[in-house]
Formats: sequence, C-alpha cells, structure tokens
Amino acid sequence: MNHKTGAFIFSLNVSCVKKYQLFIDGHFKEGKNKESFPDIDPATGKTIAEVSLASDKDVDQAVQSAKQSLKGPWGKMQIQNRLDLLRKIGDRIQERFQDFLNAEISDTGKPITLAQKIDIPRGAANFKIFADLARNLPAEIYETQTEDGSRALNYESRVPLGVVAIISPWNLPFLLLTWKVAPALACGNAVVVKPSSETPGTATLLAEIMNEVGVPPGVYNVIHGQGSTVGEVLIQHPEISGITFTGESGTGAKIMEKAAPNLKKLSFELGGKNPAIIFADSDFEKAVEGTARSVFMNTGQVCLCTERVYVERKIFEKFIESLKQKAEELKPGDPFNVKTTLGPLISEKQREKVLSYYKMAVEEGSEVITGGGIPDLPPPFHQGAFVEPTIWIGLKETARVIKEEIFGPVCHIQPFDSEEEAVAMANNSSYGLAAAVWTNDLNKAHYISSQLETGITWVNSWYLRDLRTPFGGMKKSGIGREGGKYSLQFYSEIRNICIKLSMEY
Ligand code: NAD
Repeated sequence: MNHKTGAFIFSLNVSCVKKYQLFIDGHFKEGKNKESFPDIDPATGKTIAEVSLASDKDVDQAVQSAKQSLKGPWGKMQIQNRLDLLRKIGDRIQERFQDFLNAEISDTGKPITLAQKIDIPRGAANFKIFADLARNLPAEIYETQTEDGSRALNYESRVPLGVVAIISPWNLPFLLLTWKVAPALACGNAVVVKPSSETPGTATLLAEIMNEVGVPPGVYNVIHGQGSTVGEVLIQHPEISGITFTGESGTGAKIMEKAAPNLKKLSFELGGKNPAIIFADSDFEKAVEGTARSVFMNTGQVCLCTERVYVERKIFEKFIESLKQKAEELKPGDPFNVKTTLGPLISEKQREKVLSYYKMAVEEGSEVITGGGIPDLPPPFHQGAFVEPTIWIGLKETARVIKEEIFGPVCHIQPFDSEEEAVAMANNSSYGLAAAVWTNDLNKAHYISSQLETGITWVNSWYLRDLRTPFGGMKKSGIGREGGKYSLQFYSEIRNICIKLSMEY
C-alpha cells in the first residue's frame, strides 16, 4: 500500500477491491475500532471497496485536528496564499480527471458522458470560482453621525466560522461535496466531511489532492460511516461551529433537532418535487427535449429533477407521445460505455423504494404510458439497481406519487387549461426547490415565475447554472441559500467594527 494515499487494492475472496480510509490530520488511517463496510457498485451489485468505519473517537480526533489547524499555518495564512492553494486544488483535480471519473462512476453507476461533462469538471470549477469570489467579496461601510455632532465609521469584517461539518448525499457526490468544501476553505475554515456511505470514493481521493498541493494537515478531514451513527456524532460535537447539509428533508429535520442544543449555524439543501409547466406557445421540440433531460438525467436522482409535468391541454396528447419516445430511447447498461444514457439507481434499497412507488401509482389508478418495471439487461448488469424510465397520467393531484419525492426516472403528466390552474397545481406542494417553465411569451414567463413558490425558476431551460447565483429552496426544500456570495456569507461570521472619530472634519 502507498501510505500517502487512502485507496489501495487488496484481494477479498476472488475479486480485487479497493480500500478507502479515513483522512485525519493529513494522514490516511483505519478507524480506531478497525471496522469497515462495503462500497457497492450499483451497476453490478458487486463490492468494489472496503471502507474504514469511523468510531466516535475518530470523529473527535478529526474535529480536534481541524480546530488545531485554525491555530496553525492555515489560520495565519495570507488570504492570497490560501486562495492560490484552492486554485491548485482545482488544477490538480483536472490533472487527475480520470481517477476522479473512475471513482465517481464506480460509486454511482452514472453514465460516463454525464460524469465527464458535469460532475468532475464542476468539482474542479468550484475551487476556482470560490477562490475568485472570495477575493472580490465587497465589504459595506457606513458613516454615522452621533448626537454630539461627531462621526463614527462602521465597517464590516469577516472571520471564518471555525470548524464546519459537511454532510453530503450520494446523487452528485463530488459536485455537491466540493460545492461546500471550496467556499468553506476559501473563507478560512477547516472542515470535517462525511460523504454518503454509498459514495465514499471521490471525497477520499480529494484528500490525496489536499496533501499533493500542500494544504496543511487538519484543514480537510474525511470520516466515513452511516448518517444515523457517524453523522449524528459529528453534528453534535460541541466544537463544530456550523453544519452544511444536503440530503432529504426528513434528515434535515433530524439534524436540526440534534444540533439545536449547541445552537449551530445551519445551511440546508433538501428535497424537491419539482414542477415543469409547458405552454402551447413554447418551442415544442425544445420543451420536450428539456423536459426529458429534467425528468431522466442521472436516473432522476438530481434534487432539481422534474417529477410533476403540467402541459397545456391543446398539446397534451402530442407531448405525452413525444416524451414517451424520449424515455424509450434511453439506453441503460454499462456506465463506462459512451452509448449508455441511463445508469442504475444508487442502491438496491433505493430501487425497492422507487419500485414501491411504481406499484403505488398503479394502485392509485394511473395509466402507465411507459416503463413501470425493471429493464432486461445482460450480466453483470442484470444484478444492478436499474429501473425503467416511467411516465404516468390520469392521477388526481392528491395522489401520493404526486405529493412525495420519489427520486427516480419518473414523472406524472397533468393537463391544464389556464395559467392560474397551472400555477395552483405547481404550488400545491410542501416542497419549493425548482421549476421549469416553457413558453415563448415573455410577459407570461415573468408572470408565472413571479407566482411560483420555488427558490429557482428556469424559463426555457433547466439546470442552467451560474455559480454566482443564489441556490436553494423554499418550504421543505431548504434553509438558506448557497452559491456565490451567499455561500461565503454562510461560511463566515460577519462583525461590525464601529470607530468613533474624535477629529471633526
Ligand atoms: P440522506 O438525507 O439520506 O443522506 C444525506 C447525508 O446525510 C448522507 O451523508 C447521510 O449519511 C447523512 N445522514 C443521514 N442521516 C443522518 C443523521 N441522522 N445525522 C447526520 N447525518 C445523516 O439523503 P440521500 O438519500 O443521500 O440524498 C437524496 C436526497 O438529497 C433527496 O431528498 C434529494 O432531493 C436531496 N438533495 C437535495 C439537494 C439540494 O440541493 N436541495 C441536492 C442533492 C440532493
């Protein structure tokens, strides 16, 4: 084994699997209890790695080493040097692009064409963009007149939060992890990250990069394990100053409860049940193409994915037929094959959940336009967690499959007759993350966007991201915003310094 790395290969029974270790204080190590858990490739159901399980003591050690790093060279580093290090991390990710690509695809089963276009480049870009943004964050200054006629100068100054706990999900593991790590480090914090136990690979590889570019020990720590055990120990640690979490709304509620006694600063990016509204005056082909992407991309496992489609009645039948065709053109299979366009779900457990919704939709009275089952695939993919892309129509808006987040390649299509009806149905949800509106009428686009109860609305597009813009959800879809200056505001404490000027001028 190369002791500078967290991943090494060893033989377990007949197959070769990797080992992903914890990364604490700049070193890769086993958990104190020497326990591990398997990392499963969801495309084949095979174990691809053994992952070291963190004990409570390991979590504490990670937090203490992070705290210590803030008192050492990292805490004293000039901001320009710190941001140069972030840019080097971005460069090094690009140099080791193939390693990250392999780890991410093996963990998630996502098609190579997707991971090489979105996940890995965005991971690298996050470090570069937040390095630039942190350098240019303006500070406000207020001049105050006092009662005795003198003046005072108020200016804001930012300091790091301290040790930040980062808890990330499995759907876009590297992209979402770096979306938090990069601004946290740009602001001068130290982090302890707990990636999803389903996807430990790229977070561990990133630790190698931290050492390669010279990030001081303790600034970036990785602990592995389940959320209900390792995650809960981390979020309740008294030395954690802030928790940034992306995952299910129910998990967010639990984290909030557990974090309450220590009054942690929280940022939550949670679930969604996102609507798309398609008007008859839209560019039909683009609306179909865009909706197919928004429903089926990453096998529907993006928080922004559309699960409720509302179509103006005039084009309802034609739209169903066209979206059905797009769904049936998707090719499930080997994620490393460039022709594959549909990966598996993340796990057998997630497949059971999605299939239970497929069954429920039929019980609730839907008409299945396409899909509803498991695709027939050759070995070794016959043991992967694949499901068919699925479209339903005919349900009442009260149906559970229209109300609950499924997180699979599936949507229900409903007709509407007026703008008011479309908006009312779109807003009739406990979630409020994202919406897509398809129309060529500019006034209508503005009006509908102003009425939607969502943190993000795309008009004639979907998932068109500018990383400077606020990202987050209303209602049960989140608390706070990330992106651009909003991330930097979360990862720092703002102080006001008021200087009374004795000199009159
Ligand atoms: P999840 O909530 O099950 O897990 C997310 C992370 O939280 C994992 O690392 C998990 O181990 C950890 N965790 C679980 N229980 C915990 C606990 N009690 N204490 C501390 N940590 C705990 O979510 P998931 O299944 O990994 O991801 C899918 C969900 O994430 C979907 O609901 C999706 O909509 C949401 N999501 C939201 C966004 C967004 O930006 N709004 C982005 C991606 C995914």
